[in-house]
Amino acid sequence: MDTGQSKQDNPDRTRVVILGGGTAGWMAAAALSRRLSHACTIHLIESAEIGIVGVGEATLPHLRSFIAMLGIDEAEFMRMTHATCKLGIEFHDFGAIGTRYLHPFGSFGTEMNGVPFHHYWLRMHAAGRAGELWDYSIANLMAEGRKFAPPSTDSNSMLSAYSYAYQFDATRFAPFLRDYAVARGVERTEGKVVEVERNPHSGDIAVLRLEGGERVQGDLFVDCSGFRALLVGETLKSDWQDWSHWLPCDRAVALPCASPAGPIEPFTRATAMTAGWRWRIPLQHRVGNGYVYSSSHIADDAAAEALLTEVEGRPMADPRVLRFRAGRRARSWDRNVVAVGLASGFLEPLESTSIYLAQGAIEQLIALFPINGHIADADRGEFNRLVDYEYDRIRDFLILHYHATKRDDSDFWNDMRTMEVPDSLREKMALFRAAGRVSRYTQGLFLEPSWLAVYIGQGVVPHGWDQRADGVAVDALSSALDRLRERMAEAVRSLPDHRTFLNSTAVAAEQGT
Ligand SMILES: Cc1cc2nc3c(=O)[nH]c(=O)nc-3n(C[C@H](O)[C@H](O)[C@H](O)COP(=O)(O)OP(=O)(O)OC[C@H]3O[C@@H](n4cnc5c(N)ncnc54)[C@H](O)[C@@H]3O)c2cc1C
Repeated sequence: MDTGQSKQDNPDRTRVVILGGGTAGWMAAAALSRRLSHACTIHLIESAEIGIVGVGEATLPHLRSFIAMLGIDEAEFMRMTHATCKLGIEFHDFGAIGTRYLHPFGSFGTEMNGVPFHHYWLRMHAAGRAGELWDYSIANLMAEGRKFAPPSTDSNSMLSAYSYAYQFDATRFAPFLRDYAVARGVERTEGKVVEVERNPHSGDIAVLRLEGGERVQGDLFVDCSGFRALLVGETLKSDWQDWSHWLPCDRAVALPCASPAGPIEPFTRATAMTAGWRWRIPLQHRVGNGYVYSSSHIADDAAAEALLTEVEGRPMADPRVLRFRAGRRARSWDRNVVAVGLASGFLEPLESTSIYLAQGAIEQLIALFPINGHIADADRGEFNRLVDYEYDRIRDFLILHYHATKRDDSDFWNDMRTMEVPDSLREKMALFRAAGRVSRYTQGLFLEPSWLAVYIGQGVVPHGWDQRADGVAVDALSSALDRLRERMAEAVRSLPDHRTFLNSTAVAAEQGT
């Protein structure tokens, strides 16, 4: 709506100060400059001396809508960040040693008569007349064939039943967004914040003072200072909810390696280890590897050695150890500080959720941005409710990967298998065990196919299924499943392999198309 007034020149714009120039900080700066430059000025402070965490290579499909919202060309983005495509996460040895399953970004089969496909599958599988659940997943068939093409936009096509994300070089993403944001008027200051001044009356944060003496004033501060959480944690002392008793992995050793020749997997691989798990993330120019582990169950040296033994390809750096703890802030938005990224909380990277959580917080901040500079309690409360909701659900989903296991080959897996899980997860598992029902919700992360993949993939077998699935004659159902499987396999055969797709994307980016 044209208000007849140029908001670009609005002197009352809210002064937003972002502390931190990692992935979270520059995502926040880019999004705010795109959506709210008429309502705020944006000043970002980052310190090369402190640096960024520099990991975080596997993402979720939601990042595509973020890139699109910024108006960034996908091929250009993929070329600049050396990105590959990701159809899901392949889990090895989690439910039991020797097992493998994909958590696909996409559905299993198709709903029939309003009943989710997996209930028919449970019935037919119990009768020995169905293949594995993953035979009915387009994303899985593509992953097995190392194939990739973007999903069809025709919702009647078999090839519309999946989504995809990116695997990219984390050290290139933030600089890419920095160029974008600075070009849109974001002011950037390089330097270390050494003092935080608070308003003596309200207690809000008022000024960040840098090492060289410069003072940066703001109305709203976005704390993207990483694990340090300088504003929300060190200064405001917002409580920390510790979840390490459920998610004890607290360290990772990371090691990039040269890419092997041959196909590029369009998925991230997670392989269970004796005291945690290791990731393998194929990029265009190298492979990211890391072992996420519990320091109570294995020493750093032993973890690094175990990783070195397992990696394929020539190491391109020395192993690097990172420390963290699982949990979140009790209030991610406290006073006039909104924590985004690692400053807000951390859930280990087993399901690549951290960048997603930062994106979600940024999108909520934009939707609940203070009106005329006034921060309303109700808006702050709503923001925290939505952020907490996401964290809590992801927490349960992650715990499931560790808890639903038959593994008894190490103290770590014994501890995880026998631990008390949160009530919210216990109830979800009981619901599924009874009759294959998955706790339903329509928003946020990890809908029915995700839970289903992990339950079935890790051996949580329901005692029954939805009674409506018994309403179709066995022979008719068996033929329908066979036909579906054949049509899916046929559809996937026509797709290019992932490397061929990437080469064509790179060419498109070079030509500016
Ligand atoms: C082992 C590991 C693996 C991960 N894998 C994944 C993954 O696969 N997928 C995923 O989505 N996420 C992953 N993550 C999380 C991901 O790395 C982070 O979410 C992401 O990098 C965002 O980090 P950040 O910007 O919050 O913090 P950082 O990258 O730490 O940035 C903090 C910024 O604050 C600045 N700063 C701090 N203090 C000051 C100060 N006093 N003055 C000035 N500047 C300051 C720093 O210089 C830096 O610019 C992983 C994390 C870890 C630890």
